[in-house]
Amino acid sequence: MSSTTRSKSHVSVLTSAINPLANPRGAKKLCELCQNLAYLQCTKCRVTFYCDTEHQQADWVGIHEKICQLLIPIRTAMPFHSLQADRDHHRAQILHRQEELIEISRAVAQKKLFEGKYQESLPAAQLSLRCAMDVYGPSAVQLVPAYLLLAEANVGLGSLSQAEGYLSQAEWTVMKTPECSHTVRHQLHRNLGRLYTATENLEGALLHFANDVASTWHSHLTKLLETHTPGSMTLEHSFDEAQQAEADQMLRAMLKVQESSPKQATAQNTLVAHSLAMLWFLGGSPDKALEFGRKALQSSQLVPDHSLTEPIQGLLQLAAERGPHLTIAS
Ligand SMILES: [Zn+2]
Ligand SMILES: [Zn+2]
Repeated sequence: MSSTTRSKSHVSVLTSAINPLANPRGAKKLCELCQNLAYLQCTKCRVTFYCDTEHQQADWVGIHEKICQLLIPIRTAMPFHSLQADRDHHRAQILHRQEELIEISRAVAQKKLFEGKYQESLPAAQLSLRCAMDVYGPSAVQLVPAYLLLAEANVGLGSLSQAEGYLSQAEWTVMKTPECSHTVRHQLHRNLGRLYTATENLEGALLHFANDVASTWHSHLTKLLETHTPGSMTLEHSFDEAQQAEADQMLRAMLKVQESSPKQATAQNTLVAHSLAMLWFLGGSPDKALEFGRKALQSSQLVPDHSLTEPIQGLLQLAAERGPHLTIAS
């Protein structure tokens, strides 16, 4: 393999790791990929270290090839500046390069995911997360895109519990950042949706995400329906066709999972079926709205909390008026 020989040619054994006395400052060098003690050093930048050639190669192919030189100023100790202004300028420069590094590694990870190279996307996604932590702190909302990349890679690799871990961190971060942008929330919900559609047999551990996604969609659609005026097809103002299809696919996947899981509370089924009914009603398909509306009504009557029964009945009536060839009773 050409990449193997190419990448092996610029890695050298790290003498300080083998003999700790050779590193008088005592800073332990850790592997770029696994954070274990490193024994190898990239000879091109001399600021990146690895535990073995396997991790060096994986990192080279995954991201390091593209950022090796960029890391030199970031990871080299700040030169001595006597003037405060010089120190500030140097810090600003480093920050700018770190932001650049976050962007590059994020783009590389995204491209590899797009190509279906899940394993290969991990080094770039991990670097993007670590770098964002350095710049913004360990619980900043800026970490969410990196969490989503890591989650997506793990879904692709079939490591669902890992994916869940990253998504729960993303979820937690978004929840405690009320000012978090709509785009980031949308990305998170898209990703959660993908997790559901990608997962045929959903484990119970993942179900609580479905609850959150379902209630988000439910309240969003309820708001849309409240502002809906008869005679206007309002959905196209808030969704394009692709988004509508995506929402439909995701909600249906959830409904399917819930229906096949006997322990799942029917309150959740009601919420999802009601969301689907609203989605199709607003999308101008009263027939489908009736189909899901009836499902929602059925499960709402099975739970002690009937708060949704009335809105569902109201929707069924509206849908029946739109689709005169069908009746509620059928
Ligand atoms: Zn390693
Ligand atoms: Zn390097």
